[in-house]
Amino acid sequence: MVSIFPAYLAPLRESLIGKAVDRGLIELGVHDLRQWTHDVHRTVDDSPYGGGPGMLMRPEPWGQALDTLAPASGAQPRLVVPTPAGRPFTQALAHELAREPWLMFACGRYEGIDSRVVDDAADRMVVDEVSLGDYVLAGGEVAVLVIVEAVGRLLPGVLGNVASHEQDSFSDGLLEGPAYTRPEVWRDRPVPDVLLSGHHAAIARWRRDESLRRTLARRPELLSTVALDKADAKVLAE
Ligand code: SAM
Repeated sequence: MVSIFPAYLAPLRESLIGKAVDRGLIELGVHDLRQWTHDVHRTVDDSPYGGGPGMLMRPEPWGQALDTLAPASGAQPRLVVPTPAGRPFTQALAHELAREPWLMFACGRYEGIDSRVVDDAADRMVVDEVSLGDYVLAGGEVAVLVIVEAVGRLLPGVLGNVASHEQDSFSDGLLEGPAYTRPEVWRDRPVPDVLLSGHHAAIARWRRDESLRRTLARRPELLSTVALDKADAKVLAE
């Protein structure tokens, strides 16, 4: 990953991803873009052609960074460029990226990166311009933290229990429903009886129903992508 604020990416050394790095399951390289500048001020930005507010990142340091980290003669990474103008980052894209042997991330700042950087990189590697959502962050670092965490936890061995990501929200196209742990009653609020029944089929049906209800209430557009059977349709028609 390349950034003008490499320290911003330090949280990747913590918690789940940090442990996966320590265990050799994930290899992380964080690089300061300014090492590919050649003036005393280590300048990476300039004003945009055509005018307008703000500054843009100049292409030369980015070109040199990519050429150094992924020489054209060798194997190529898949380059992820966070931008609000990108395609939405989803769990499906996280799964797709988790299958790649090598990802590279380019963190924009200011008003973004000169567009020729992506065009040039796309001549020799797969480039994904990816958006975290319909809002504007100050830089790509936070987006990279999000993407690396979402992708990293899908890699073999990173999560202790693989079933936990198989049951996550979005894995079956639906939001995950409510979940409970001990105690059985807390502040006069009991855990739903079915979860204490030990009846696995009934628990699975209850979870599916709650998942459907929650998705209908909060994210109804997701339902159009999900295969629904008769029992599902009945719940949604309630
Ligand atoms: N001028 C850009 C635009 O309107 O599309 C916004 C630039 S933003 C201030 C600076 C950087 O933050 C971007 O280059 C990108 O790396 C990152 N960024 C901001 N919002 C983002 C989002 N929703 N998803 C992913 N990255 C984002």
